[in-house]
Amino acid sequence: MRKSNYNILIKSKDKFFIINSLWGTIDEIDDDLFEIFNDDKLENLSGDEINNLRKRGYITKLSSENESIVVRNIITNYFDNHYTQNGHEYLIVISYNCSFRCSYCFEKHINAKGKDHLRQKISFDMIDNVMEAVLSSPPKKKIITVYGGEPLMTENREEVLYIIKKLPSDFKLSFITNGLEINNYLDVITCVNTSSLQITVDGSEHFHNKVRISNKNNNSFLVIMDNIQSIVNKGIRVGLRVNCTKENIIFLDDLHMSLQKYSFYKSNLFSISYSPIINFSSKIDESELSLVNFVEFIDDYNAKAKAMGFILGVYTHNHIKEKILTALKHGKPLKIQPVSCNAYVNTFIYDPFGRVYPCWNIVDDVTHSIEEYYPRSLQNGTSMSLWRNRTKVIFDKCLSCQYVLYCGGGCGVKANKEKGNFNEVSCDHFPLLFEKHFLSAYNMWKSNSM
Ligand code: SF4
Ligand code: SF4
Repeated sequence: MRKSNYNILIKSKDKFFIINSLWGTIDEIDDDLFEIFNDDKLENLSGDEINNLRKRGYITKLSSENESIVVRNIITNYFDNHYTQNGHEYLIVISYNCSFRCSYCFEKHINAKGKDHLRQKISFDMIDNVMEAVLSSPPKKKIITVYGGEPLMTENREEVLYIIKKLPSDFKLSFITNGLEINNYLDVITCVNTSSLQITVDGSEHFHNKVRISNKNNNSFLVIMDNIQSIVNKGIRVGLRVNCTKENIIFLDDLHMSLQKYSFYKSNLFSISYSPIINFSSKIDESELSLVNFVEFIDDYNAKAKAMGFILGVYTHNHIKEKILTALKHGKPLKIQPVSCNAYVNTFIYDPFGRVYPCWNIVDDVTHSIEEYYPRSLQNGTSMSLWRNRTKVIFDKCLSCQYVLYCGGGCGVKANKEKGNFNEVSCDHFPLLFEKHFLSAYNMWKSNSM
């Protein structure tokens, strides 16, 4: 008998928890038991205690090697079932051009390629090829996401209309847009099956207008808010994504007060989520807001936001918190998600130069293109195997980690930035983030069940 390698111990003030990621079990324990597991002193346990802890998976008869084999089988099954059932995720980049030139934009390197490059738009023939690919391997969720650059610039109207014309009738479109020129698309997005629009702002009106410089308008914040109101009035779902930095995050009250001037903020068609800005294209920058600080801040801020009528979501590992909350609420095992990002499995991003990319942050970097789809169809075997085999390579390195069934090895782009190797693990504070999300979910569950 020995303690499982997949136990996660969490301590917070006078509370102690043990979670077994292999079994999905979660238990609140006392400090004595916590110390027994922490110090690996199982000999201090009674026979009954050992039996009970074994039934919960915290103690096992399996050797370390056999326990890892079980984990590997679980991961293999997850891939076989989850991804075979869900199929591909399709995105279309109409052009790399944008009405803003944001300083942190992950596509900033593309701006340096000049106006002709930015103005290159996806052709009608390319759109035909994209639709053929989509139909040959349709996703379970019949949604195609359109983004850019800025997809809903007025100059892209013909291409957007052509995508709509060619969209299979049982598919929906979603748009990731800066929201500035949507007023020129209201007729279009209401006549097609639009699933949702994701619109981004950079914090409060003051901060947003300082960073989002447009040659068309000095107060783009107000234009975007008016546009959101029009879209919600048309019955279309809008997710507002708030980019957070060290500077703007402390002014979220200002943002919420601005939103309260519009009726959309009370609509169930409107939701708001927060995301830290992560710069993948440069060296690690100490001035960046860290993921851990961000999650802590939003967690502390939640109660205040709720009092102002907002339910906050976070883009960072939020699925973990949701899964923990569901497990606690229903007394069910914690569900696994051993893939850090769909880029390693099933994302296909079609760009205006006839290339396919797996990840949002490396679009237009030809070395990472996994395929050409126009004028001919041709796979780039080296890049394809680098991207789509990362999870296999990573699981060999992460298999003995107690977080592997929730973390999946982290982001290869980040690993490359930090360690110069795409196929390295990128823990990126995952254990700490897991703990923060666990405690946040636990507190939320406790306060709702009292
Ligand atoms: S990346 Fe780090 S935290 Fe994540 S599974 Fe691998 S070793 Fe564990
Ligand atoms: S691979 Fe990394 S950078 Fe690319 S979309 Fe996934 S998490 Fe983001």
